[in-house]
Amino acid sequence: MPRLSKQRLPLEVAIMSRVSTVLLSVHRGLKLQARSLHASASRLQNWDYFARGPSYWHEQFPVAKGQRQSPIDIVTANAKVDKALTDNPLKIHYGNCCLGVSNTGHSFQVAIDGTETELNGGPLDGTYKLAQFHAHWGPYRKEFGSEHTVDGSTYPAELHLVHWNTKYNDISEAVDKPDGLAVIGVFFKRGREHAGFKPISDLIAKIPHKGDNVEVCCNYDPSWILPARRDYWTYLGSLTTPPLHESVTWIVMKNPVEVSAEQLAYMRMMLWETPDGEDQMFNNYRPPQPLQGRVVRST
Ligand SMILES: [Zn+2]
Repeated sequence: MPRLSKQRLPLEVAIMSRVSTVLLSVHRGLKLQARSLHASASRLQNWDYFARGPSYWHEQFPVAKGQRQSPIDIVTANAKVDKALTDNPLKIHYGNCCLGVSNTGHSFQVAIDGTETELNGGPLDGTYKLAQFHAHWGPYRKEFGSEHTVDGSTYPAELHLVHWNTKYNDISEAVDKPDGLAVIGVFFKRGREHAGFKPISDLIAKIPHKGDNVEVCCNYDPSWILPARRDYWTYLGSLTTPPLHESVTWIVMKNPVEVSAEQLAYMRMMLWETPDGEDQMFNNYRPPQPLQGRVVRST
């Protein structure tokens, strides 16, 4: 299948207001082909962010209306400062563990060789290993798109680093257990270019279509994306995409990291399949869910 050429990308970033038109015209000839190519996949895919969006997920995934769903709005005044979290600090070790970046049709996703990675301390019992990271984001020049919100305020994007508990054999065994997963959330704020995210954002520009993937050829440590100050909120929640398993200990970093408008634009230049064919990927976030009496703890 023809691709967007590498040479087009800087131009398209410069004219983001027209990017939808440009991409649609580039892809107009491909639409029918794309539709037929992906028809079988679409039949299998039973959720999206459109006609089968978050407000319908409960029809196929009843846990969507469960007692520990994510994301949530974090009300900072109600977060309970817990000294135990700072007495036993969160320890994050990743190293050069990135394998490749792919377009999943819902986000970009960085595949990880988690063998040498470790996450423990803080709210966690035992050791967790990194499995992948991805993000959720909003439209061009808008300040929403994050999944968690803070006192009702949103950010333009939110990164999720997904870890699994090594008391289980692998992530597929851990994914639906109450203590199976730990996800670190990092808010992206529009600002200066983030040098630590640049190797990944540059690769995201090369995976426009669902199923595309590229190798991460240089050494890349995902901790480069974490904020320098690692204060966080933590609570018990769920996956934010179907099957929405209630298996996640959430660790949401209080301090956002700055990324540039261009770095956000690269994410939106990825394409996904809408009811009208391929289009720009954005608004791939689930809105906040009821707290259901849960307590958010704070460092
Ligand atoms: Zn996510």
